[in-house]
Amino acid sequence: MCVPAGFSPAEERRWIAVMVERIRTKEQRRQPSDEQLLQRARDLSRRYLDGRAAPTTVRWSAAQQSRWGSCTPSDGTIRLSERLRGTPSWVLDYVIVHELAHLLIGNHGDDFWELVGRYPRSERARGFLDGLDYAANSPGSTEE
Ligand SMILES: [Zn+2]
Repeated sequence: MCVPAGFSPAEERRWIAVMVERIRTKEQRRQPSDEQLLQRARDLSRRYLDGRAAPTTVRWSAAQQSRWGSCTPSDGTIRLSERLRGTPSWVLDYVIVHELAHLLIGNHGDDFWELVGRYPRSERARGFLDGLDYAANSPGSTEE
């Protein structure tokens, strides 16, 4: 981001706030709605889990700070971390498949990873998320 020359520090702060807000709004518009997320989760379940996982709602959640996603198997709800906003769709799909698999299996045992591994880009997506975590926790990180 490049601040116009000749701005006072106060103007500069205001300008940056406006630009950040503009980018955030644009990103949110680009992201799938809760309804689209649910549709996508159902498609992914059909494609990779023989339709056995039956999600009822899939929502963005600001409360998810340390985990990428979480779910409640008893009622079929899935929550996705706001930190995933702006990630490529194949990464988001991996997190959805991961949570769908948790609707069927609560732990991270071999059976669980066998299910998750049916999604072809699982390994790559996990690498991508590790990279995001690393960038967010590194000194000098620009993430807020
Ligand atoms: Zn898990």
